[in-house]
Amino acid sequence: MPVRAVTRPITGCLTLIMEDILSLKEAVVSYLDRTGGLQQLIEDCKSFKELLPSDAVYRFSFLVSPTDLIELDARLGDIVLHEPLKARALFRSVCFLSIKTLSLMDQIHTESQVNVVLKVTHLPPFPSYHLSLCEFPRGYGPMRPMAMEGLVIAMTRVTKYTQGARFLCSNEHCLCAEGFHHVRVHAPGATETATVRSGFTCLLCSSPLKEDVKSRVLGDKQLVELIHADALDVLGVHPPSSLRYQSVTLFLRDELCNAMRIGRLYRVVGIPAPVHQWPAVTWSVEASSVQPWTPENSCQVSRNFQALFASMTASPWRFSAVVANSFASQVVPPGVYTTLKLGLLLSLVQSADVEQDARTCLDVLALTTDTLIVDRLMTYGLALAARGVRHHPTGELFASLSKDEHAVGTANIHAGAALLATGGVCLLGDLSLYKRDKLDALQSGSLESRAVSVFIPGKKYGDDADQQLSLPLQCNFWAMADTAAPSKKPTKTDTVTLGTVDIGSVPSQVVETFGLMIQCRDRGGDQVSLPMTVHTLRRAIQPGEPLYPACMQFTTQDYKEFLAFARGLQVEMSPEAEKMIHGYYMASRRVRSDATQGSSVSVASIKLLIALAEAHSKLSLRNQVLEEDAVIAVLLCENSITLKHGVSALVIPPDAVFPCDLHDLEALRQRDEALEALHQQILQFVFAYAPGAASYITEE
Ligand SMILES: [Zn+2]
Repeated sequence: MPVRAVTRPITGCLTLIMEDILSLKEAVVSYLDRTGGLQQLIEDCKSFKELLPSDAVYRFSFLVSPTDLIELDARLGDIVLHEPLKARALFRSVCFLSIKTLSLMDQIHTESQVNVVLKVTHLPPFPSYHLSLCEFPRGYGPMRPMAMEGLVIAMTRVTKYTQGARFLCSNEHCLCAEGFHHVRVHAPGATETATVRSGFTCLLCSSPLKEDVKSRVLGDKQLVELIHADALDVLGVHPPSSLRYQSVTLFLRDELCNAMRIGRLYRVVGIPAPVHQWPAVTWSVEASSVQPWTPENSCQVSRNFQALFASMTASPWRFSAVVANSFASQVVPPGVYTTLKLGLLLSLVQSADVEQDARTCLDVLALTTDTLIVDRLMTYGLALAARGVRHHPTGELFASLSKDEHAVGTANIHAGAALLATGGVCLLGDLSLYKRDKLDALQSGSLESRAVSVFIPGKKYGDDADQQLSLPLQCNFWAMADTAAPSKKPTKTDTVTLGTVDIGSVPSQVVETFGLMIQCRDRGGDQVSLPMTVHTLRRAIQPGEPLYPACMQFTTQDYKEFLAFARGLQVEMSPEAEKMIHGYYMASRRVRSDATQGSSVSVASIKLLIALAEAHSKLSLRNQVLEEDAVIAVLLCENSITLKHGVSALVIPPDAVFPCDLHDLEALRQRDEALEALHQQILQFVFAYAPGAASYITEE
């Protein structure tokens, strides 16, 4: 009897499978019970009960931790990690049974009306669960959750998608002409037409199906372009190469919409899935969890800098002075442009911590007659930033729009250079090369408000109303202006104020918005010629040879690690530093005020002063901002205001922070003395023009 012989093992097999499924479902119940999932299900049902009873599907989402699940039941954990669709079916079945057994909702008639979304929170830390966004080929593996990290370079607006729809048989006599027998639910990788379209047929009688449009359930979706973080290198300082990075489209649905911001780094757990869009098959990722991500930074201060730090404890000004003096000695000889180098270093240590929205930006504008050298210096510095992006005058600085290719042609917002530089530095280059309208946009739109506003015309992008979005701008801008460039404005010699610099090619409103303005000049004259020439010639004759033995101890790598370490320091204001900053601000506002125009010292300058003082204490590897740090901040600020508005009652030399060449220890001592004298001068200035400032602080 061959038939019996065959059927026996099959029935045996089936019972085994049934038993398996039953025990897996038991594990699901026990997991949901332990993690509060059942309670959540009951509450979700309560909130759904108040809605209209005509919905096709009801969505229940659960956070799932694979580690906990594996501990509870290894087989179930394995299914969640490797067969997401099967896992979803198991959870759906358990939810449906619970809803029916506990009579939680009358609106749910069939299991297919339960739309379960499992959100895997993290994955085991093994390579097979990690997807590198720069590895190819990709997308050939099975559909399962993977972890990936990347940078958001573009995102669409939030639009609608169909979570689920109900279809009815067109044959009146068929069982499926009513009820919930044909329900379609969105699955990872499915396009809108896979969920809803015409042309489906009834499984019972093969008559065409018609959608019951009243029951359609809509959800929110947003598309995000994610790219490997290394792609930033291409935008920074590296020479143009044939390297290309390909972004990945990420689908954020429902509660994940707006969880990401343009220009930031994230760690994503999601299911990669091929998307069939005739005639092509694209590849995208359905996100299930999104977390802000900071690459690990275990930077230590190198031995060279440690030794320097130990030998410079005599004064709180010395360490940062030597650090600034020998900075970028590969590009510019030590002793040249030291104030600018200090300004760039302060900006570099200030640029970090994107999560802190209140962070003050430290923009630097260099005035020079030699834009080539300053450009090289800034380019060198850009490579040491937490993130450095170089903007080209022809490229997009803020944001551009395109029609989204995946969905209904909604607006896709692409990050420009400034948004890509979030948490770092955006190098603008020579402002004289910019067109007037770009400069105006730079000044009005971004430098002042620190936000990019994006206007989306509704008509063009398939929406009823126009929309205005505002994206926060969190980067430091570096730029230079050529003081030798011919002025476009007619010069009015009688109104020129003592100490100001005319940069006619750049509008004064733009100049005003840069916090720190530094003039690059030599101590002897206006031009840095001789040391620079010698430097260039020696580099040409002996390429690769160390030019300056003493300062070549510090390599670019030393600086890179040192700055990364300093950036991470947490600093605190001392009462003395606060008193000095506040006093100077009050006195300076009073001295530089005008009956008609008000004060030329902006309210923002107090933030700039605090940022400068904090950055200087970080650069000096201190946790507390000392009065000495405040002195440096005040001098840099006063020099900068003088270049913009002329001298005030606080008369200080043009390069107040570096009054002499720092070639030996004696020079450092002389500088300390000069700074101490300036310190006293500032105190007298505060005492004379804002005597109440000190007591105001103590009251506070
Ligand atoms: Zn039918």
